[in-house]
Amino acid sequence: MSDASLIFRALEFAATRHSGQIRKGDTEEPYINHPISVAFVLSEVGGVADQAILAAALLHDTVEDTDTTLEELRSLFGETVESLVAELTDDKTLPKEERKLLQISHAPSLSADAKLLKLSDKICNLRDVVGKPPKDWSDERRREYLEWTAQVIAGCRGVNPAMEALYDSELDAGRESTAGS
Ligand code: NDP
Ligand code: ZN
Repeated sequence: MSDASLIFRALEFAATRHSGQIRKGDTEEPYINHPISVAFVLSEVGGVADQAILAAALLHDTVEDTDTTLEELRSLFGETVESLVAELTDDKTLPKEERKLLQISHAPSLSADAKLLKLSDKICNLRDVVGKPPKDWSDERRREYLEWTAQVIAGCRGVNPAMEALYDSELDAGRESTAGS
């Protein structure tokens, strides 16, 4: 299978599974814009060319946010993609605060490739929280969110200097835009 083939199959699958879902910001963008951005940042900023990582980026929220199963991903996209998405998937049977604490404590033990995905996911979410914040979020809630990402990313360093530098500059921008209120 060619590189483009795996990536386009993943994009088509994710777009279908996320159809009808929108992001939480005012602009009400289709949900699929987010996984596309995560794959784009990995490629453009991180210099990542590995097709399994880029496919996993496109699929990273399908198990958490749609009825997709890991078994399905394994049979359609293979073991590498499935295990990367598994590393990025929170256990939704747990209460939200516990899930957030687990992301912090699990980050250092993620595989290097999952750390790349996590970095790109948090870069994109920081950009959204700054540029397209969820409609009802106060500055304080936005601040809490970005400080939480900083704790997760502290456990994901040492894998890609360019993406870490971009994360740091997005975090600074986020701190500035939510300061003083
Ligand atoms: P949520 O988990 O509810 O929302 C953030 C997640 O939503 C992101 O990680 C992202 O996940 C997804 N998302 C979709 N659209 C957007 C968008 N436009 N911008 C950003 N994210 C988007 O947030 P939290 O519960 O973490 O809340 C943030 C902070 O506020 C927390 O630290 C919490 O303590 C505090 N707080 C929480 C309250 C609550 O009711 N939960 C109430 C008051 C304060 P993905 O990449 O998976 O799509
Ligand atoms: Zn995501």
